[in-house]
Amino acid sequence: MDECIFCKIANKEIPAKVVYEDDRILAFDDINPQAPVHVLLIPKEHYTSLNDIPEEKKDLLGHLLLKARHTAQEKGVKESGYRIVLNTARDSGQDVFHIHFHVLGGRRMTWPPG
Ligand code: AMP
Ligand code: ZN
Repeated sequence: MDECIFCKIANKEIPAKVVYEDDRILAFDDINPQAPVHVLLIPKEHYTSLNDIPEEKKDLLGHLLLKARHTAQEKGVKESGYRIVLNTARDSGQDVFHIHFHVLGGRRMTWPPG
């Protein structure tokens, strides 16, 4: 995906503040944070959204989710609380079409979301 901004971040073609990395995934600070802690977790492999993840990649989803928890711990919000968001397709407000989990924390969240 030549034009995908998150593929470029995964390939280190554009910079990001990386907070976690392994062979499959990358976590980095959101460029426009909506909370004191706002980290994005992506697979290095390109998938447009949750709708694009094949059944056999359930392991990757589990890995992302557990590393989202790990990120919350590293950022010091695991016990105070955090929200994981996975916007999927148009009505969700998804803006970048490379699947990513948001981890938000460090302030009291409201519900319902906007
Ligand atoms: P979504 O609306 O779920 O697609 O969220 C996309 C997120 O990506 C937004 O929170 C943006 O602030 C964030 N974002 C876009 N470009 C970058 C970038 N170059 N580095 C870090 N975060 C980005
Ligand atoms: Zn991509």
